[in-house]
Parts: sequence; structure tokens; C-alpha cells
Amino acid sequence: MTRSLLSSRDGIVAARRVVVKVGSSSISGENAGQIGPLVAALAAAHGRGTEVILVSSGAIATGMPYLQLDARPTDLATQQAAAAVGQNVLIYRYQDSLDRFGIVAGQVLLTAGDLENPSHRSNAQRAMERLLGLRILPIVNENDTVATHEIRFGDNDRLAALVSILVRAELLVLLSDVDALYTRPPHEAGAVKIVDVPVGDLLSDVTFGDIGAAGVGTGGAATKVSAARLAADAGTAVLVTSASLVNEALAGHPVGTFFVPQHA
Ligand code: GLU
Repeated sequence: MTRSLLSSRDGIVAARRVVVKVGSSSISGENAGQIGPLVAALAAAHGRGTEVILVSSGAIATGMPYLQLDARPTDLATQQAAAAVGQNVLIYRYQDSLDRFGIVAGQVLLTAGDLENPSHRSNAQRAMERLLGLRILPIVNENDTVATHEIRFGDNDRLAALVSILVRAELLVLLSDVDALYTRPPHEAGAVKIVDVPVGDLLSDVTFGDIGAAGVGTGGAATKVSAARLAADAGTAVLVTSASLVNEALAGHPVGTFFVPQHA
């Protein structure tokens, strides 16, 4: 399958295949209402003919109230239990919202290891191609009962990059609660927004702060940059922006930080 290299933001609106990644804090707890606008933006892209894949965290955070937990559990087994309960509710919420647009979701639970094992990888690839061919919207999360990479390293950003590589997406959109990457933590004086990241730029001069203080999510700017580099080096353009700007991002507006992809 050929894909065009999305070497500037101009091509975003016409991108054929796009992976969008959203983190726990954007779509759970008091932000559960953000699922509606997120889904509307995905549906608009789907309606333009784009093949859309969503990589969504949020299973643990969504499951917490069902297990009468006020705070994120600290032991792995309870985290996995919360994820098992919450994943189900999360997919229900997405499907309920997608129903407004007549779009059907397909749940895909993967591990980074699956994407490194050749036979698991080709099975996942075949299933994803068929789902997209059927105009289904795949919703991917880490398979938390057998893998705990994201729980431990906060790294569904990496899974999203690996999924982008698997499906040869033209664009990966990494969403968080910050509108772009900055040269220093954005609340610090002297922080400057990074608009474009050239091929191969490792952003070594950039200072990253601690990961979000809110408590339910686990990723941060550093995991975004390493995931973005992984995808961009394999030929997928990457846009890092906030969940509240997803519609603008998918419509090609000049938001966020754009990683120019490498020919691959
Ligand atoms: N995959 C898990 C989830 O969706 C992990 C997220 C996390 O560690 O915050 O909830």
C-alpha cells in the first residue's frame, strides 16, 4: 500500500489515514463530557473519507467509581481490575456518542509486545485493515490484564506510535491538556511554543517538567516527544496538541507542534 508523506500541515485535511491518541485525564472524571466533542471531531474527519483510529487511555480512571475508589489505586492488581471494569464503560460511552453519527466502533486491545511479535503483528494488521475497510472506527487501548507497560510507564503515546507504524498512518495526533510543546514547561517564564520539528530533530535543548499533577493520567511531554520521534522517523507526521483543539487539528488549522516525517 502506498501512502503519501505528509511533509507539511497543508496535507492534514486530506490525510487518508489518521491515528488520534487521547489520555485518561481528557476523557474521564469531570472531563467525561469531553468525549462528545472529541467524537464529533473524529466523525467529521470520518465523514470527509479519512480512515480514523482512536487510541484511548482512561480505562482505570473510568473504572474507579465503579469500584468505589476515590483515588487511583496503587497496586497493580487493583489497577488492572479497575481497567477491566472501566474499559467496558469507556467503549460504551464512545459508542453511545458515535451513534449520533451512525459510526460503529471496534474495540482493539493490544500490547507493545504484540506489535513486535511477527505473527501477532500480522494478525493485528490484518484485523485493522479489515475494520478500516468496513468503515469501522477502531478504538485501541493497552490490554491491561496481560500487559502493564502503560500503567507503569504512562506510555500509551508509544502504543499510539506503534499503531501508526502498523497501519502506515499519514498522521498521528497526540492529544493532552497542553496546546503544543514548549521549550520549557509552559507555566515557566521564557517558555516558547515549538511550531515545527524538522526531520531528525531530537529536541535535545528542550526541558520537560514532571508529568501532570492531576493524578489519573501518566504521560507527559517527554513521552510525547519520544513517541512522536518514533512515528515521524517511520514516515508518519505527528501533531501534538490539546484535546480541546482536536477539531482544529484534524481540519488542518495551524495549532500544536508538527513533526515533519522522514521518508520511510
Ligand atoms: N491503559 C490504562 C488505561 O487506559 C492505563 C492508563 C494509566 O496508566 O493511566 O486506563
